[in-house]
Amino acid sequence: MTTRIKVGIRVRPFLDSEKEKGYLNSRVQIDEQTKEIMIAEDGRRERKTFKFDFVFTPNNNQLQVYEQANIDYLLNKVVEGYHCTIFAYGQTGSGKTHTMEGYEYELAPPKESSKEGGNSAPKPRPKQHQNPERFGIIPRAVSALFEKLKAKEGGEFNVTCSFLQIYNEKIYDLLNPNSIKQNSADGTPVLSQGLRLRWNQRDQFQVENLFVFDCKSAEEVMNFFHYGIRNRVTASHKLNMASSRSHTILTLKVESIDLSTQSSSFSKLELVDLAGSERIGQTGTEGKLAKESIDINKSLFILRQVITTLSDIHRTSKQQKDQYQHIPYRESKLTSLLKQSIGGNSYCLMLACINPNDSFIDENISTLNYASKATYI
Ligand code: ADP
Ligand code: MG
Repeated sequence: MTTRIKVGIRVRPFLDSEKEKGYLNSRVQIDEQTKEIMIAEDGRRERKTFKFDFVFTPNNNQLQVYEQANIDYLLNKVVEGYHCTIFAYGQTGSGKTHTMEGYEYELAPPKESSKEGGNSAPKPRPKQHQNPERFGIIPRAVSALFEKLKAKEGGEFNVTCSFLQIYNEKIYDLLNPNSIKQNSADGTPVLSQGLRLRWNQRDQFQVENLFVFDCKSAEEVMNFFHYGIRNRVTASHKLNMASSRSHTILTLKVESIDLSTQSSSFSKLELVDLAGSERIGQTGTEGKLAKESIDINKSLFILRQVITTLSDIHRTSKQQKDQYQHIPYRESKLTSLLKQSIGGNSYCLMLACINPNDSFIDENISTLNYASKATYI
């Protein structure tokens, strides 16, 4: 069983709004030839250099990221029956959601007529006219996957999708808004307890009562996706969830049936937008929120451990490997859910996102340190 993890770094552009606020653009240097990234460490005036499978500069657009990170290759693997995971890592504001989704939403104004005094949450909806050039990995990969499946001869396929969020180590079904909120005795919405994970016989985790929908086309998947995004935003308004602290996983499960042998295979494509990797304290979170972010980041913390352990295993000799080593998949919800897709016979792409603002050098170094560990796998 081997996992192949490729790691890409994407440095997003310095935004006009940041320039206006007087922020400074930092000294991240990228060598597109050698795939190296150099960053100056403050104080020590030292340069650190990291090397990755892919590097993307602020000038690279969505299509270039999609093509050069070779998403197409991963989708071919899904069609062949392998599990694949693509995830975006990085601090809040570094470009994870842009890289994964790239959609533009607008907020519909809240309804005035609500009985609780106009307190209903604004609902995001995809803007009528999207600029497809802005599309990130999710819409591009979903439509390419259907094209590949339809083009495959001598077989039939079924695709299902599900979409969930992990917040505070609880799992919420984004396609079933009732999974997120419950009504307390006085009728006010409160965060529900979340869905349970259960082991099945094949050593896989399953989320109990998760909605899973058959999808015949990429459009259907994207409609579910947008529906889930709306639920996520609405819930975060109503229930005070900080959406930057949640992980979302869009899962496409593909069943391929070979008509000549009547055999079928299952594979999964997991598209993951991780919670912000920033350490607490830095953004001045206190009290309840701080406790919350430790819990939420448990998934991220364990994911780092899993990746680091996989990377250590990869570097040790075969003999040592046998005595090795507990990989702590089961210790967080995220890694339990992704166990098959990052630990099995599978393919994985991590895109680590970098915010070019000068004040984030420490965060960026920690992102690069972590991401470069993953390149050893
Ligand atoms: P995150 O999901 O990591 O918190 P976002 O994807 O929301 O970060 O990005 C933060 C901001 O930067 C958004 O306004 C987004 O539109 C912008 N942004 C991120 N990456 C790019 C990019 N490659 N090109 C242009 N704007 C970007
Ligand atoms: Mg985001």
